Amino acid sequence: MAQKINAYNNILELIGNTPLVKIDKLTKSFPGNFFAKVEAFNPGHSSKDRIAMHIIEAAERKGILTEGSTIIETTSGNTGFSIAMVSIIKGYDCILAVSSKSSKDKIDMLRSMGATVYVCPAHVSAEDPRSYYEVAKRLHEETEGSIYINQYFNELNIDAHYANTGPEIWEQTKGQITHLVACSGTGGTISGTSKYLKEQAKKSGTKIKVIGVDAYGSVLKKYHETGKFDAKEVYPYRIEGLGKNLIPGATDFDLIDEFIKVTDSESAHTAREIAHTEGIFAGYTSGAAMQAIKQLNERGEFGEDDNVVVIFPDHGSRYMSKIYSDQWMENQGFLTNESVGETQEIQY
Ligand code: PMP
Repeated sequence: MAQKINAYNNILELIGNTPLVKIDKLTKSFPGNFFAKVEAFNPGHSSKDRIAMHIIEAAERKGILTEGSTIIETTSGNTGFSIAMVSIIKGYDCILAVSSKSSKDKIDMLRSMGATVYVCPAHVSAEDPRSYYEVAKRLHEETEGSIYINQYFNELNIDAHYANTGPEIWEQTKGQITHLVACSGTGGTISGTSKYLKEQAKKSGTKIKVIGVDAYGSVLKKYHETGKFDAKEVYPYRIEGLGKNLIPGATDFDLIDEFIKVTDSESAHTAREIAHTEGIFAGYTSGAAMQAIKQLNERGEFGEDDNVVVIFPDHGSRYMSKIYSDQWMENQGFLTNESVGETQEIQY
């Protein structure tokens, strides 16, 4: 009898169960132990695979989606890629409304994954009919039999991380995690993971501090502190996928102990530092999250026995024309005399 071939049925079976990797070179002088949850190990190279799969399968169970249905979403790129990937395997059409701030690499990738992409202006208000929210809503209304994932206001976004990311981290750290540091965009990752971890910690009589990472130019930190939306906090910034110009319904602010703001420049440099010290080629927001850890360390947040888990949401390959381009860094005024790898010109 032929032996069973050891293979996955399709790429979707590889979603989740991402590794936890020690970050000890970059944090050499910091007290405490630091671990990155490297979400680039998902087949779509980001944490968004988890929510795409979770939300689409929930809609299938409810009978909302049938073969040939259209899935619509607003996305900075990663969620779109994940939805496109899940749509291919499951036989759905995928329409994505993205911000013009998204890198060309990301937009090209979405098209390569069979999605129809609408590029919408980044610096208009959420209510503007040209914003990617409004464009997605309109397309949903106009496309019969479509569903709108609406990750910023979908409870299932939180639920995906409550069901998977949280339990994985609890199991990987054997319940010894003391701090979770995670970027907040929709807030799904931090809220769902925090909910699970805080519940488990309560049961075992321990405590976990959950720190959200926000951008200068975003309203999240101020809203967390005051309960009010302050339009003065909103201005353009470079980091994609982190912070917001509105209050996302998928963020449970009660589950976040505090927010730390990071700059575009320091986050970019820290992402490059992760690559050349730890050998992990991570995205811009991974740099932002690690930058937040540096700032927390500077104010004496960590103790010798602390176990700090930081989420690295995606892969560096998505930012080749941005933070990993010296030219782009220079154009932003970010480049100092930092040395990364060198290019040698060979003369023939
Ligand atoms: N990093 C990147 C690169 C992202 O695309 C996102 C999602 N917008 C986040 C971090 C934040 O994750 P969440 O939406 O779950 O808060």
